[in-house]
Amino acid sequence: MIGEPLFDAPTIAGRVAELGAQISRDYAGKKPLLIGLMSAATTFVADLIRAIGVPCQLDFIAVNQFGDGDGIALEKDAAIPVRDRDVILVDDTVDTGLTLQYVVKTLQERAPASLAVCTLLDRPHRRIVDIEIKYRGFEVPDVFVVGYGLDYRGRYRELPALYAHGTWPA
Ligand code: 5GP
Ligand code: MG
Repeated sequence: MIGEPLFDAPTIAGRVAELGAQISRDYAGKKPLLIGLMSAATTFVADLIRAIGVPCQLDFIAVNQFGDGDGIALEKDAAIPVRDRDVILVDDTVDTGLTLQYVVKTLQERAPASLAVCTLLDRPHRRIVDIEIKYRGFEVPDVFVVGYGLDYRGRYRELPALYAHGTWPA
């Protein structure tokens, strides 16, 4: 059910390098705390952190979606305190924005010095809630994307490129 590659590995690497350079400029003299959303964003954040030229820390958060997707809970919290830190939240895909809205609100309550969102993929026309995205890799059309850490029912995370999957998970 895997279709055409949307973005091949060199294209992804090139874009990640650009994002890393942009973050390095914006955070010159600072020590940002990258917080990756598990599990899909782990591949992206692993590449991104190596493209950033300022000292970084790395942590992870996992969220659980239940019900129709409007129920969201923290499954694994960050271990490093975010108070007074320059946090960069790293996600794989922003679709409706509901997941990120929950995580952003949760982290904002802990009084970081700043909070920016970096997402590999963005599907802006699907947005339900307004989310400010500072760094985005690629805009994607209405296809379900797999590979480069993104799964379809637990499969395809290991693929080095991003592919369109023929169907959306039920
Ligand atoms: P949102 O809450 O913004 O609607 O959903 C975002 C989450 O849904 C993402 O973090 C991601 O885990 C999942 N998601 C959205 N679109 C895709 C996609 O095309 N492929 C995969 N594998 N996951 C997706
Ligand atoms: Mg996700």
